[in-house]
Amino acid sequence: MEIDARTRLCLLFGNPVTHSLSPVIHNAAFRELGLNIVYLACAVETPLVGAAVESLRALAVVGANVTSPYKEAVLPYIDSISERSQQIQAVNTIVNRNGQLFATSTDGTGFFHYISSDIAGYDPGGQPVMVVGSGGAARAIAYELAQRGADQIYVVNRSSDKGIAFADMLLSATPIRKASFISLYDKQLSALLRQVKLIIYTLPVDCPEIITAINQNNVGSTEQLLVDLRYGNQETAVMSAFRKKGGSAFDGLGMLFWQAVQAFELFTEKEAPISVMRQAIKYS
Ligand code: NDP
Repeated sequence: MEIDARTRLCLLFGNPVTHSLSPVIHNAAFRELGLNIVYLACAVETPLVGAAVESLRALAVVGANVTSPYKEAVLPYIDSISERSQQIQAVNTIVNRNGQLFATSTDGTGFFHYISSDIAGYDPGGQPVMVVGSGGAARAIAYELAQRGADQIYVVNRSSDKGIAFADMLLSATPIRKASFISLYDKQLSALLRQVKLIIYTLPVDCPEIITAINQNNVGSTEQLLVDLRYGNQETAVMSAFRKKGGSAFDGLGMLFWQAVQAFELFTEKEAPISVMRQAIKYS
């Protein structure tokens, strides 16, 4: 499809954004369906987050994805949000419906699709889970797993206020039995790692405290899973440490894929061309 005077925009807001595969996957899908839409990534400075969201209305942009660190910061500028986003206070997808901005998060559902269909047929029912981090992606994933029957969620974070509020949200907004905050600097972290079947690592960097905790303990067996939400060409240091101790580690490419499929369907109200999207990001 040629870019012409009818071409419409779809955007990604975040900072940084240059690592993102969202433009690649969405542009491939728009091309496949013959939609005259172009997807661009925009690095937005914090004071301009509100202006960036307002621009969706002014420029009749189809919609936008929101990535770190703005999944919560955009909320005041949105007209309506889904129930799940109300609870987790985070969005990753904004849709412009004739000037009215609706937003939701496809992070949790995308993550669940990834681990249940592509990794291990994982069923959170009755399972203890550890989530490292308390940002928008962490809250979306924990909320989804709690709704799907996870028995207990340990929230590990450097800031205690955010970690405690996150655990409290899970207890009040989902059917989960136990949700508790553990400081990233807690000496019990290593022992706790052994007790959980699934660890979701959502920090944007390799965290020395987590690597030390993994190294201090044999993780157990390959049935223990760690998913690091980052994706790229190289295995992260966290994944590498976990594998060396006997666990199974996966990156976040599959989550990117499934959350993008769901976002695409929200933007266009059309069925996503799944195989083309897979090929675009080399996710098989
Ligand atoms: P946020 O910015 O909302 O949250 C980041 C979290 O990381 C916060 O809990 C923050 O802690 C913590 N953190 C940041 N820096 C450090 C540090 N140096 N040491 C310890 N903790 C730190 O980000 P998101 O939740 O949106 O995204 C998190 C990561 O997941 C990003 O790398 C993002 O690219 C990736 N991601 C991947 C997706 C995929 O599809 N594969 C989808 C969504 C996200 P504190 O609360 O103390 O500030």
